[in-house]
Amino acid sequence: MFLEYAKDGQLWTSTGTLDAETSDGIIKFTGHMWIEDTTDGGASDFIPSVDGSALKRWLVAPEQSPEITLGWKDSSHQPRTSDEDAPLKVHCHCNTVQLLITRPNERSLDASSPFPDLTHPSKSAHSPNPNNEAWWISKDKKRYLAGTCACESCRLHTGFDIMSWSFVPMSNVTFTDGAAIKGTNDGLDSDPRINQMMGMVKSPTEEGTKRHFCRKCGATVFWWGSARPTLLDVAVGLIDAPTGVRCEEWLEWHGDRVSFAEEAFNKALIKGLAEGLREWKHGKVAEERKGTAAEADSQVHPS
Ligand SMILES: [Zn+2]
Ligand SMILES: [Zn+2]
Repeated sequence: MFLEYAKDGQLWTSTGTLDAETSDGIIKFTGHMWIEDTTDGGASDFIPSVDGSALKRWLVAPEQSPEITLGWKDSSHQPRTSDEDAPLKVHCHCNTVQLLITRPNERSLDASSPFPDLTHPSKSAHSPNPNNEAWWISKDKKRYLAGTCACESCRLHTGFDIMSWSFVPMSNVTFTDGAAIKGTNDGLDSDPRINQMMGMVKSPTEEGTKRHFCRKCGATVFWWGSARPTLLDVAVGLIDAPTGVRCEEWLEWHGDRVSFAEEAFNKALIKGLAEGLREWKHGKVAEERKGTAAEADSQVHPS
């Protein structure tokens, strides 16, 4: 809920925890700070403006560091590994939670799931996913779906208006020695190693769901639901991505919907996110198409 600075007693409050109907008119979002830590711009590129006002973009501390442009990337950053199939590390701030994610494989298709609210608003008739379309795997079969959530449950458990989740089959999440998580249809807490690392809370408002967090530093790790027991929501913020926190070489971001946008606490912020994310995603798709067209053209007309 709070961040307290020991040196001067400054107390910061997380924006999602006020006891109010909405934080519109109470909290005004003015900028992104510490973008440098993201390496690739992170989610700051998803929210260029709120309520028609462009957000400031501080490289490090607000008012004391250079302002940077939309689309900034740390050009000096060298990925730690060039092996694109090396498992992806996941860890919390204190490293009590350490896990690995492997690339999608045949077994990744074994998970079964209704559609997530991210792609199909949960009240829609399409939510059941009768043909078990593997929405969690990208079309190129190399990446997992990721997206943003504005639901009240995520907000009250994390303290913040926006939560970023990736959707990864349990069979693709392992301990660092490669051992599988021994989850059951009742959850992951049947695995003693999970219990050693993580605490678990059952949400009072979401039946059949469990949230797992680091026992020591409190970091949010997983959301688990009985409707899809072998497909996990993994907190994107804990992924130690080689190129930047958006981890685009492993994650495909959904651009057309913010999950549970209708539950937004700060409506202006989530509207800014929904619009910015759509623009970011469609700009990226257009760029990729341009790249593919140029490649095809060079094959037809070799220079
Ligand atoms: Zn949520
Ligand atoms: Zn921790």
